[in-house]
Amino acid sequence: MTLRLRTTPVPGTRDAYTGIDFNLGFHARHYHLDLTYRVMPNRLDGTATIDVVTWKDLGVMTLDLMNNLSVRRVTAVGAGGRSIKVTRFKHSDNKLRITFSEPLRADTEFQLVIRYGGNPRGRRTTWGDIGWEELESGALVASQPNGAPSWFPCDDTPDEKALYDIRVTADNPFTVISNGELVHKRGAGSTTTWHYRTAQPLASYLVTLQVGEYTRLELGTRTDAWVPRRFLEEAREAFRDQEEMLEVYENIFGPYPFPRYTVVMTEDELEIPLEAQGLSIFGSNMVTPEWERLVAHELSHQWFGNSLGLAQWDDIWLNEGFACYCEWLWFEHKGHPAADSALEHYQDLAMKPQDLVIGDPGAQDMFDDRVYKRGALTVHALRVLLGDAAFFEALRAYVSFGRHSIVEPVDLRTQLYRVGNQEQIDELLDAWLWSPALPEFPR
Ligand SMILES: [Zn+2]
Repeated sequence: MTLRLRTTPVPGTRDAYTGIDFNLGFHARHYHLDLTYRVMPNRLDGTATIDVVTWKDLGVMTLDLMNNLSVRRVTAVGAGGRSIKVTRFKHSDNKLRITFSEPLRADTEFQLVIRYGGNPRGRRTTWGDIGWEELESGALVASQPNGAPSWFPCDDTPDEKALYDIRVTADNPFTVISNGELVHKRGAGSTTTWHYRTAQPLASYLVTLQVGEYTRLELGTRTDAWVPRRFLEEAREAFRDQEEMLEVYENIFGPYPFPRYTVVMTEDELEIPLEAQGLSIFGSNMVTPEWERLVAHELSHQWFGNSLGLAQWDDIWLNEGFACYCEWLWFEHKGHPAADSALEHYQDLAMKPQDLVIGDPGAQDMFDDRVYKRGALTVHALRVLLGDAAFFEALRAYVSFGRHSIVEPVDLRTQLYRVGNQEQIDELLDAWLWSPALPEFPR
């Protein structure tokens, strides 16, 4: 598959939200992870082979990888087996710095082979420990926004999507779940190797690995769940609407972007559900009255956040505002108008401090509930302004435009202009996204 990704000029050399220096000068096109994971000692070892293409002359390149994993060897092979000499590599400050014997020309394609291993753990961040997480019996990965280097070397920025082949060997009876389709599963002695392949590109933060004692539960023709055996009945009930939700969103936004949708329910309690591409992760503690909302929210991220990726974290409302509005759309499908949900949440929001600019909330507040709710209210305000027919037409055009690519607020605006009055749209977006004061409730 040829990747036709937009390259978005993100300003500066450092991610404004994660504070991490960009890895400039190349694109990683395809990651082949070949790993062995031993659950009891929480030990991960293997090789990451990365197909890279340079976009400028490059003598030194960097990748993100947490220091607690050690790199044993780095080699490179050019197109047609041409040898590329790596003179040295240095691994410090969670960066792997690779020096070539002579600068690679712009547009050089090559494969980087990195042997590494260690005891993975989460990355300590402003938003808590993210990335790799050891469970009571197994492990999970949930990396938003910058946890991917907790388990593999990568260019960890949301606008750099790539394809993945993920091959993990684990002891029986553990199940390994990852993104994409299971293309191969082979047992040998007391271990099994699981090989997953993605057909669509994804951002590193959406790459996941789930290892645990799970049983598969079919939910519909395109949806399934992996759950601990003792939660089978509970899961069947909890996810009963999953396939219908997928169809409802398809009717609104256009085709579901991936071949399948999988949910994983961990035996362990989790604080919040977590999204990955093609799947979501829920804790067994989440089956509460809030549950249905979360199931709808996570599924909608497959469109908003996964297929339509972010260029930069500043635009987080494009993920969370839409996902939150999708909750309201699901309840609307079930008879509770989105306008009523909007009003309920507007009243809650009005009680909170109005000191956030959700168009660029800042790292500290990027996951603040106000970004979610006010983001959803922004979407609702657009619907009220444009009317249903024009609003949903613009949304479908936006989703289709950004499919398997990257979007920015300007892309949404472009589609809105085609169906509405430019001045009114700008005024609305300025008030909702770029001023702290809460606008009047849209009626
Ligand atoms: Zn979300």
